[in-house]
Amino acid sequence: MEKPNIRDMSLKEIEALITSLGKEQYRARQVMKWLYQKDATSFAEMTTLSRESRSLMEEKVIIAEPTIDRIQSSADGTKKALFRLADGLFIESVLIPGRNHWTACLSTQAGCAMGCLFCLTGRRGLTRNLLPSEITGQMTMLRRHTQEGPDIKNIVLMGMGEPLANYDHTVKAIRILTSDYGLGFSNRKITVSTCGLVPQILRLGQDICVNLAISLNAPDDRRRNDLMPVNRKYPLKTLLSACRDYPMPGRRMLTFEYILMSGINDSPEDAKKLARLLKGIRCKLNLITLNEFPGSSFRTPSKVTVRAFQQILLDHHYTAILRASRGSDILAACGQLSGTG
Ligand code: SF4
Repeated sequence: MEKPNIRDMSLKEIEALITSLGKEQYRARQVMKWLYQKDATSFAEMTTLSRESRSLMEEKVIIAEPTIDRIQSSADGTKKALFRLADGLFIESVLIPGRNHWTACLSTQAGCAMGCLFCLTGRRGLTRNLLPSEITGQMTMLRRHTQEGPDIKNIVLMGMGEPLANYDHTVKAIRILTSDYGLGFSNRKITVSTCGLVPQILRLGQDICVNLAISLNAPDDRRRNDLMPVNRKYPLKTLLSACRDYPMPGRRMLTFEYILMSGINDSPEDAKKLARLLKGIRCKLNLITLNEFPGSSFRTPSKVTVRAFQQILLDHHYTAILRASRGSDILAACGQLSGTG
């Protein structure tokens, strides 16, 4: 039988492993630190553990991470990393530059089953869920092998896949990313983006405290049904009720992502409808102009249309940010990741 990967284990699971080997429970915290803070890739490096403990662990588990196949740079500074997984599949992550820091956009699935019409990842379908080690491994490898690594301050789970369709592995990965013994990110710096899986949104709010972004993209059910099949199962009323119930400590706000597509959802009437729809929800809106990809029938709206749309939301007292599309020349922008480099 194949040995499990220790990077797929939570602190509790490593504690159970260590105690089953007859060793002290607190050693698990040391192991986590070796893995995530000192970047150990073998048990031999874990010199705070006895030689016997190290060889006992080596008998039970392996240490494995995805490998970086190649990194592409966009003219605007965005970088896209292509990762090879142990079974030969490829996934992608994106590094997005900010003023003083970088944001890592990580994948949670190889492909995606949600079928959003405007998304290249969705067109390819789902191959499989990523393991916790494959989600955190994108971050650990980027941190270790890119110049920008030490300056990655934010993580968005917005790459390939629907994070909440891979719920258990995503939550476990977030727990490792935010653990004091793991990667030590503040949960305020982590955002989960979903197309609107309502039961999982409710569960997430109870299980962990991270920022939530909803990929909305239409101001009514008729158009959202057409663009995002998930809406037929969880229509806007149900989705927005879950959003209202999502726990948001302090001054945090929900984010609604709205991809503007020419002639589809970008009229002044649509902006007014959207403003009415989100009334009473503590939120901000990220307006993203569609990133065209080969074979896509949707078109990018004009700058004038986009500005007019934004202005209506500002006039309704929303925080509506026009997100510059980044990395589209290397197919690294929203909805363009395909795992093919
Ligand atoms: S937009 Fe997100 S949820 Fe929709 S198909 Fe693409 S990756 Fe999946």
